[in-house]
Amino acid sequence: MKIFHCPGCNADLFFENLVCGCGLAVGHDPAAQRFVTDQPFCANRDSLGCNWTCAPGETLCESCRMTSVHPDLAVPGNDLLWAKAEAAKRHVLAGLMRWGWFSPDETGPRPEFHMLAEATATGMVEVSMGHAAGLVTINLAEADASERVRRREMLGEPYRTLIGHFRHEIAHFLFERLSVGADGFVPAFRDHFGDETQDYGAALARHYEQGPPSGWQNAHVTPYAAAHPHEDWAESAAHAMHLTDITDSFLAAGLSAAEAPAPGYDAFAEAEPARLLDAAFTIGVAMNHVNRAVGQPDLYPFVNTARTREKLGFALRWLATPTAG
Ligand SMILES: [Zn+2]
Ligand SMILES: [Zn+2]
Ligand SMILES: [Zn+2]
Repeated sequence: MKIFHCPGCNADLFFENLVCGCGLAVGHDPAAQRFVTDQPFCANRDSLGCNWTCAPGETLCESCRMTSVHPDLAVPGNDLLWAKAEAAKRHVLAGLMRWGWFSPDETGPRPEFHMLAEATATGMVEVSMGHAAGLVTINLAEADASERVRRREMLGEPYRTLIGHFRHEIAHFLFERLSVGADGFVPAFRDHFGDETQDYGAALARHYEQGPPSGWQNAHVTPYAAAHPHEDWAESAAHAMHLTDITDSFLAAGLSAAEAPAPGYDAFAEAEPARLLDAAFTIGVAMNHVNRAVGQPDLYPFVNTARTREKLGFALRWLATPTAG
């Protein structure tokens, strides 16, 4: 993520800021990727803390318009969970817009989001995260930090965040767009990930019953990626987004490290995935070291192999080429 500037006083602004230290109320224009004061703010600004601006004639921003169902706001706390999830969604969408996905001049289909809480006015309901035919369902229980940690520990995962969930589910959506609209995507996909038409339900049932096959680390970024080619893609593409954002954010903050790219490098414009991966892994190792200074978990707690690097490179190449359809 870039670091932005106040249109009034030029002070640094972070992606989430609603107000500058100088007192100016600012909005983030997602199309121009800058902060402005001269465009209408999203109607969810006061209720959800959305700091994006709207296109002419709209009342909601590009991100809020993708949400078609929100949680039951009669339940106290659901508004806060929803606001946190929308903030993570904006962050993920802003990165994809750097590659050209979902920007105003990109007219392909958008994902639709159902942001659902388990607590409703009529009792608890079960909510399954997932993607199906363009619809992404997010379980807002995961916006609660203690609940997210509980699930992470239960599943034995080293990393679990809202941003990670959005990247994973949107990756499933992008698979559909690429498989319809991008010449050559499907055969190339199968070369890397295998046949995605194999029985998905049976594969997931097997994964939850038996866990990943031994040696999964050789070819998969996470254990879950070993469950089915669709999940392998979603996990790999989510990691490709993480690694690009890690590199972009590191450089935006003015940091440097041996073998890290020079200032001015644009991770989203890199045409050679191997170069970006080299940079990202160097930075990841350096940042893990920094996090350990205060006892925080590693920033990027994953080890990649030649096989997973190939999959990440494949994902980076296609993420950087938005297609119509
Ligand atoms: Zn200012
Ligand atoms: Zn909005
Ligand atoms: Zn998935």
